Amino acid sequence: MSRFWSQAAQRCEPYVPGEQLNQPGIIKLNTNENPYSPSPAVVEAIETEAANQLNLYPSPTVDQLRERIADANELTKENVFVGNGSDEVLAFSFMAFFDQGKAIRFPDISYSFYPVYARLFNIPFKSIPLRDDFTIPAEAFFQSDGGVIFPNPNAPTSVYLELEAIKNIANQNPDQVVIIDEAYIDFASGSAVSLIHDYENVLIIQTMSKSRSLAGLRVGYALGNAELISGLTRIKDSFNSYTLDRLAIAGAVEAINASDYYVNITAKIIATREWSFSEMRKRGFTVLPSQANFLFATHASFPAETLYVKLKEAGILIRYFNKPRIENYVRITIGTDKQMQQFFHALDKILSCV
Ligand code: PMP
Repeated sequence: MSRFWSQAAQRCEPYVPGEQLNQPGIIKLNTNENPYSPSPAVVEAIETEAANQLNLYPSPTVDQLRERIADANELTKENVFVGNGSDEVLAFSFMAFFDQGKAIRFPDISYSFYPVYARLFNIPFKSIPLRDDFTIPAEAFFQSDGGVIFPNPNAPTSVYLELEAIKNIANQNPDQVVIIDEAYIDFASGSAVSLIHDYENVLIIQTMSKSRSLAGLRVGYALGNAELISGLTRIKDSFNSYTLDRLAIAGAVEAINASDYYVNITAKIIATREWSFSEMRKRGFTVLPSQANFLFATHASFPAETLYVKLKEAGILIRYFNKPRIENYVRITIGTDKQMQQFFHALDKILSCV
């Protein structure tokens, strides 16, 4: 603590991201990135933009990108807000829709940024335990005081919540905003985006970091009715009206255009996830049913921490959370088939030594 810190700085318990070791040869299965390169058309669009326009400020309203995202979702640009990664869109959403006196609800095993933002912005929260099978208990989110936020599929558990349950949560919070963080939705059976036509309180947040393979570009966006989107815009304009830089805008527009490319790599990741799921089970792991680009797994006779440490020694990074109830789980991002074969090879060596 420092005497110079504001109360917000004192309250804050900063988020600790997964390790970003970029040594050559490391197999990175720890931060849910996409193992495939972005579309070549995206790289080309960024290069062209870099060569021609970097002396000019970007568009503060980012109309071109918002229009492309809107078209792709059968919406208008008034339904779309863009930000510097969905983490920033989430921060703006906490500021725009959640209030200091009213407790919001989110699952207690969930994306660890939610409590960080709640503390930072002084928003009280109730974290709701997941069921024994790690599903989200929808009823426990009814009639919240201050609003609701959860990822779908949930992270780090990978478990998906059906649309009917989401509708019930939205119906039971008519005067609160219900935010669905769909970072991993392209690996799942369906988005809740259609709800925004019927529910003025539903905000969907998506990202280009996962299925579009652009974690390094930092582009996320929110979809919702125009009233919610204008609330986000008020907050953004008070911070940094040029949230997205020219390279990010050019790349993201092209990423929407290149949808065939992304449908293809997403299908590959889902296929790799399915065989990796059965390979894990063959080795005695309990694996939660995944609709994301990662697996969440535990082994009855093998501590998660040891597994994490030993794999790291073998040059493979996975994620281990030292948190109650999931201290014995590991989260493994789905890599390419080759990376997953190397992972299983290393895993077999480790398991056979115990
Ligand atoms: N939501 C969830 C549930 C996530 O796991 C992540 C990525 N760690 C994000 C949002 C943020 O993604 P980004 O800022 O890269 O868009």
